[in-house]
Amino acid sequence: MAIRNIRIDGDPILRKISRPVDQVTDRIRVLLDDMAETMYDADGVGLAAPQVGILRRVIVVDPRDGEDSLVKLVNPEIIEKDGEQIGVEGCLSIPEFNATVKRPEHVKVKYLDENGQEKIWDAHGFPAVILCHEIDHLNGILFKDKYIEEYKPEELVEIND
Ligand SMILES: [Zn+2]
Repeated sequence: MAIRNIRIDGDPILRKISRPVDQVTDRIRVLLDDMAETMYDADGVGLAAPQVGILRRVIVVDPRDGEDSLVKLVNPEIIEKDGEQIGVEGCLSIPEFNATVKRPEHVKVKYLDENGQEKIWDAHGFPAVILCHEIDHLNGILFKDKYIEEYKPEELVEIND
């Protein structure tokens, strides 16, 4: 595994649309492992492939809600969403900026796991926020495009994803 360089806002690659993965190969599994290592090294809760310069529809998410809470998703797609929630977000590609964003409270996401098996994740609350944020990255969208207001409390709880 290897830690990859995280691209920072202003890098044009963050604005491009990522391509679907045709087949989950060893190369994709290495990318997933590297992305997980990179996310943990940066103390994030999610990371999308374009953030490490790869325009493929691949994300890793770890809402840190228990052991083995890392999920690797290939070709993630939101197939249902409902409700709404407003929470503070950050992004490893946008250092030192946090802001509130409105997201669905629940999303149902279809994806392929690292073995190419189709899976469904019914996510509520915080994991739903992370999934929406990371899937936005695959479409060249950053949370700063849709934030409600900047968040600058004295005691800042950082949520980097
Ligand atoms: Zn982000």
